[in-house]
Amino acid sequence: MQCPKCQAATQTVEYASIEVDRCTGCKGLWLDNLEAEELRAFGGGALVDTGDAGVGRQYDRIDRIDCPVCHVPMIRMVHARQSHIRFESCPVCYGAFFDAGELRDLQEETVVDWFRDLIAGERKL
Ligand SMILES: [Zn+2]
Ligand SMILES: [Zn+2]
Repeated sequence: MQCPKCQAATQTVEYASIEVDRCTGCKGLWLDNLEAEELRAFGGGALVDTGDAGVGRQYDRIDRIDCPVCHVPMIRMVHARQSHIRFESCPVCYGAFFDAGELRDLQEETVVDWFRDLIAGERKL
């Protein structure tokens, strides 16, 4: 597959039998429908997302891309609770493209969010 952002080739990496495509150039990650949630459930985000977050932030600005599978324009999405996580999603196959560092961030932030909720709970008393 060809990376929708930098046009470099992608390679398949596997974690807990979940296959994702990682770009050999910008290290962005292409996930098929639901693979992002599965990866999160297995805690594999940090293991497959090995790219430089600084490079990922540069590619985050490129947000008008076509789906590398269906070749239709992808929709720009923002994570429901974490507005700094911006990714692109295909309206046809529901695949999603994450820039380097974003999945890793999602993983780490989840723990922070949980801790924040805990503190918020205590303050209510
Ligand atoms: Zn790329
Ligand atoms: Zn698609």
